[in-house]
Amino acid sequence: MLVIIRLVIVSENGNELFMADSMLGKMAKWLRLMGYSVKYISNGVSDDEVINLCRRDNLFLLTRDKVLHERYKNSMLIESDEFHEQIKQVIRVFKPDETKYFTRCPLCNSTLLTVPISDYDGEIPVNVRSVHGEVYVCSGCGKVYWKGTHYISIRKTIENIMGKAT
Ligand SMILES: [Zn+2]
Repeated sequence: MLVIIRLVIVSENGNELFMADSMLGKMAKWLRLMGYSVKYISNGVSDDEVINLCRRDNLFLLTRDKVLHERYKNSMLIESDEFHEQIKQVIRVFKPDETKYFTRCPLCNSTLLTVPISDYDGEIPVNVRSVHGEVYVCSGCGKVYWKGTHYISIRKTIENIMGKAT
């Protein structure tokens, strides 16, 4: 007889759905850059509301608030004030998937669409058009990204965080 033990975990192929509280805005942006789906709750939303939103959408809460952490079990209390340390704490439990890096808009959490540069008729600097084969357009807010110098420095920061994470 085959017995299947199913572990119920929030992590599934790096597609975790997280909620970050208002003190974790910078961390939320960086986790999005690493492909994690992170909703961000802005200031002025009550604890009850945060918990209701998390329950409704089955979100794993990342919080700096001990009381909130104790009230909502599907959560992690983030210990550090510093975003490198915050990310390390998260990725120790929820392993990142490198294939998902840069697939999500850091500003609004929507997925990015890869658009060949020849098909993109929006405004971008001339040097971007001549150097890059494609751009990444946010399906939510419409912001356009490309893999320029900013991308390289983001990549280095992520590698730095990852190197020290183990
Ligand atoms: Zn966006």
